Amino acid sequence: MSTLNDTHDPHLTSWVTSANDGRTDFPIQNLPFAIFRRRGGSEPWRGGVAIGDQIVDLAAAAQAGLFHGEAQAAAQAGAEPSLNRLMSMGHQAASSLRKALSKALQSGSPQQAALQPCLVPQAEAEYDLPCRIGDYTDFYTSVHHATNIGKQFRPDNPLLPNYKWVPIGYHGRSSSIGVSGQAFRRPRGQVKPPDADAPSLKPSARMDIELELGVFIGASNALGAPVALDEAEAHVFGLVLFNDWSARDIQPWEYQPLGPFLSKNFASTISPWVVTMEALAPFRTPFTRPADDPQPLPYLASPAHSAAGGLDIELEALIQTARMRAAGSPPTRITHTNYRHAYWTAAQMVAHHTVNGCNLQPGDLLGTGTLSGPTLDQACALIELTTGGKHPIALPNGETRSWLEDGDTIVLRGWCARPGAARIGFGECVGTVLPARD
Ligand code: MN
Repeated sequence: MSTLNDTHDPHLTSWVTSANDGRTDFPIQNLPFAIFRRRGGSEPWRGGVAIGDQIVDLAAAAQAGLFHGEAQAAAQAGAEPSLNRLMSMGHQAASSLRKALSKALQSGSPQQAALQPCLVPQAEAEYDLPCRIGDYTDFYTSVHHATNIGKQFRPDNPLLPNYKWVPIGYHGRSSSIGVSGQAFRRPRGQVKPPDADAPSLKPSARMDIELELGVFIGASNALGAPVALDEAEAHVFGLVLFNDWSARDIQPWEYQPLGPFLSKNFASTISPWVVTMEALAPFRTPFTRPADDPQPLPYLASPAHSAAGGLDIELEALIQTARMRAAGSPPTRITHTNYRHAYWTAAQMVAHHTVNGCNLQPGDLLGTGTLSGPTLDQACALIELTTGGKHPIALPNGETRSWLEDGDTIVLRGWCARPGAARIGFGECVGTVLPARD
């Protein structure tokens, strides 16, 4: 688990003045990674690090001779068109680069003159996926989501007996994961309402969101070599916002007995900036279990994990309908929750995923599952917020939504704020539903 060091000092400021306003997601204490290029050109994709409203171009910085040793090796890996090689080098490499960047970006740094030409305004940038995502596994780590959904799918038996023992997950598909800005066609699929005799193929009429975090794997583990819980975060490169778009009318017909399939794999969207576990170090929380719940098996428990296994990350989802967009109205919030409510942590996801010897690889993505909190206004999918479509959400312009309509845009945001630490954020994860193909 990353510990606090000089890079987290809340008093640090940067000569990039937009990093110092207290509201930016990207102060000098954050320094997340993305793959970017200038929009509208033919520049190569390369890695960058966010600072205020700017990006440190790692290809330019690696050439400028600013860094040495492990930090320079990490910058060179980060200059490639995907972050897989930087991820594969393990958290120490990214940490060395973070330390060097923190020094070079600090107010008064003698490296300012050399680094200034390496900055690209975020307003001029476009983003790609941060890495080639090999495998993608989606977990189910909110007990509140599992209970709310279970009530609708199985009213007599909402929470299955394995839930409090096993971090439940399924293997998903990585090919349809896109970066913020993604627009995708409403999927078609087999739908069978309970009162119909037979299914039919039609566009989904129950399009939903799932507000999740995505966990990017850094250093791999060898096939056959489980990762111990206290080593698990050494295999995590960082976190992104993750919207696991879901077709709730396709899902109930197809999900038994092997789990979600076409209701999930038509599109998923992540935010471009990967916030490292090191940047999140000031926002740890204890991991606790209610006294009358089973305590995790020994491979999913440790004193260090109990003391600080959780993370305090505020999360929200907003909607902007086509009508709102036409009227110039900003997105409006539909839910607000916190990652600290999760029943299983990212470290437990990694320890469990590898306990059978399964090998995780650099750039693999683990979804946390929908991160609904304990109360209904903290629910992170429309199926919960509207009780299966029965109680539509009222929007400020008089529109209502049970499910997403064509042209709806969903914005996810995440941030961490605590006394004694600089506020950091994740940027945005934006996606839009287009009409089904004719
Ligand atoms: Mn999901």
